Amino acid sequence: MERSFIPAAKPIIGPEEREAAGAVIDSGMVVQGPQVAAFEEEFSSTMVAGAHCVAVNSGTSAQHVATLAAGLPEGAEVIVPSFTFAATANSVAAAGATPVFADIDPVTFTLDPAGVEAAITERTAAIEVVHLYGLPADMPAILGIAERHGLAVYEDCAQAHGAAIDGAPVGAFGAWGSFSFYPTKNMTTLEGGLISTRDADLARACRLIRNQGMEKQYANEVIGLNNRMTDVSAAVGRVQLRKVGGWTERRRANAATLDAGLAGVSGVVTPHVPDGYRHVYHQYTIRFEGIEGAARDEIARVLREEWRIGTGVYYPIPNHRLPSLERFAPGLELPGTERAARECLSLPVHPSLAPEDLDRIIEAIGAVAKAGA
Ligand SMILES: *Cc1c(COP(=O)(O)O)cnc(C)c1O
Repeated sequence: MERSFIPAAKPIIGPEEREAAGAVIDSGMVVQGPQVAAFEEEFSSTMVAGAHCVAVNSGTSAQHVATLAAGLPEGAEVIVPSFTFAATANSVAAAGATPVFADIDPVTFTLDPAGVEAAITERTAAIEVVHLYGLPADMPAILGIAERHGLAVYEDCAQAHGAAIDGAPVGAFGAWGSFSFYPTKNMTTLEGGLISTRDADLARACRLIRNQGMEKQYANEVIGLNNRMTDVSAAVGRVQLRKVGGWTERRRANAATLDAGLAGVSGVVTPHVPDGYRHVYHQYTIRFEGIEGAARDEIARVLREEWRIGTGVYYPIPNHRLPSLERFAPGLELPGTERAARECLSLPVHPSLAPEDLDRIIEAIGAVAKAGA
């Protein structure tokens, strides 16, 4: 009998979510209302240490609305990593600011503080970190740089629900944080996003922009958009919020099993987690020493076709090389970013993995590492 396929990701949306969504649909009141308000309160108290929360219709919208709400001056630059999903730089550009790409540390895959310092100009207004794969960026260093240069810090927490440094959660370090609830993320509202901020004025500005600039019906105060979350999504999100803590523990336990199983495999570099950092393993991303590009892709093919294991390359093309974004970075070279794009390979780590799935993954990586070496 053929082995079952182990997918790279597996959204978990079950009967409780269906029931919660159905109850909202049956009520006839489906747009932003009491479910969104309750979801915001519950996310605030359980995930971001009491920061104000503003739910929106996607993670990208969260970044876009928060950047607009920050009211950056004309020509402002925001430093972002290039090794991330394009939403990070897209939302900066869509808010009328200029994304400036800085290099990452190819070991942690997050912004390299030295690369950030090198990218600062007199037009820099903010540094936007990405807690990539669920590992917090080097916040002590980034916050220090920001303070010395008078810059704001933004956090893209799309992959990092519940990640923390010494118990301090991501999304509450900087001026604002943005979360995504896309189905493959650590928790979902089908589509959805959320802004977290400790700044009450910024939270109010985000609420206005989310809803056409209105607090009072037809008394539009500022230029706004429609980025509202539906009550159907929020009801699903409230159920997911009760489960995400347990799922995160499963992800962390799966990662620990992979760490232990791959520790003795020569040529395989497993994720590095600095002391005190709580990694929530949106992705479990490895590298094979001396194997990159087409050879890495061939390993992914063997894993998929021979071992029936799905993997992912996040991300094969750095943002500063994308046709959409390269105009912001003519001729830019980011060696750490380029290397990560050539080497990274994400293995399944999601909460639905069975012990025998993890065994198969460890056995397969041992075999392909040996064959590739
Ligand atoms: C998913 C993701 C986003 C965008 O979130 P959406 O909900 O898909 O709009 C932004 N940044 C990163 C790093 C992401 O992984």
